[in-house]
Amino acid sequence: MGCKELGIPTGVITGENVRKLLKYASEQGFAIPAVNCTSSSTVNAALEAARDIKAPLIIQISQGGSAFYAGKGLSNEGQRASIVGAVSAAHHIRQVAKDYGIPVIIHSDHCAKKLLPWFDGMLEADEEYFKIHKEPLFSSHMLDLSEEPKDENIATCKKYLERMSKINLLLEMEIGITGGEEDGVDNTGVDNAALYTQPEDIWDVYRELSQVSDLFTIAAAFGNVHGVYKPGNVKLSPILLKKHQDHVKQKLNSKSDKPVWFVFHGGSGSVKDEIKEAVSYGVIKMNVDTDTQWAYWEGIKNYYEGKKDYLQSQVGNPEGEDKPNKKYYDPRVFIREAEKTMIKRVQEACRDLGNVDRL
Ligand SMILES: [Zn+2]
Repeated sequence: MGCKELGIPTGVITGENVRKLLKYASEQGFAIPAVNCTSSSTVNAALEAARDIKAPLIIQISQGGSAFYAGKGLSNEGQRASIVGAVSAAHHIRQVAKDYGIPVIIHSDHCAKKLLPWFDGMLEADEEYFKIHKEPLFSSHMLDLSEEPKDENIATCKKYLERMSKINLLLEMEIGITGGEEDGVDNTGVDNAALYTQPEDIWDVYRELSQVSDLFTIAAAFGNVHGVYKPGNVKLSPILLKKHQDHVKQKLNSKSDKPVWFVFHGGSGSVKDEIKEAVSYGVIKMNVDTDTQWAYWEGIKNYYEGKKDYLQSQVGNPEGEDKPNKKYYDPRVFIREAEKTMIKRVQEACRDLGNVDRL
């Protein structure tokens, strides 16, 4: 049983097909990596990685990554560059995804309260796209109001989900505080107790959002940290996710052991067993950013070190003073090396999450 038998098409998927894919992942006990991309090169590398191990994929773009996609030379006043860049990335992904032959979810990453104009801009693009194509441009968006009071967080997510459900978009929300630092929010000094979401919080979210739509996922804090730390330094408690599932199951009087779709933020630096355990409790998406950033850089680093003597001038290398170096400094050559090491790292993430041979 794979995506094909379940009727999940290749290319970018939205709405009902997203529901089918996440349900499939939850039932089979695997998770899909959401790879942060900032360029067509990183998008293509992530797609190639997933294609070669027969896996569905989530590509996500952050607010900063979106602005970069549009070009650092553009002004981001009013989130303009982030909106244009995110829309541009979505169109690129839509254009090429089908040719890679895998189902792809396009997702936007963390959006804190102060970045809401970015979120609104993407939603407008979704609504425009829906008028013509009967589906949104993106597949899902994330709203991160975990810094705000709980009631405000949930009420705002509910309000947005009402608007989003009209065009079959999925909402990812965050409750509890993930440590570390991400797009403009620094939680490195936060009190320890706040780093673990309580079961009642999860039920409050579930109860309110499920009144609107079932297309939502929850990023809960269970000791996870954004960014990279030495393995073992992150005190993860994936068992909390099991407690959340049990609590919601009991409240709903549900037959399912995993009524909630959880998202794992800040997985970098976690040991593989903890990732496996979290997935067994209903994590269906894990964010991957820091580790693939390093992998991309590592490809360039190794290439430069190996070809250093051919990369000091346009002409002249150990083979002769008049030998041209064009074929060594062509961006297609060294960027491809970055892509190759990134591809390996994306595939490693897929294997860690059980996302292999799922087509
Ligand atoms: Zn987060």
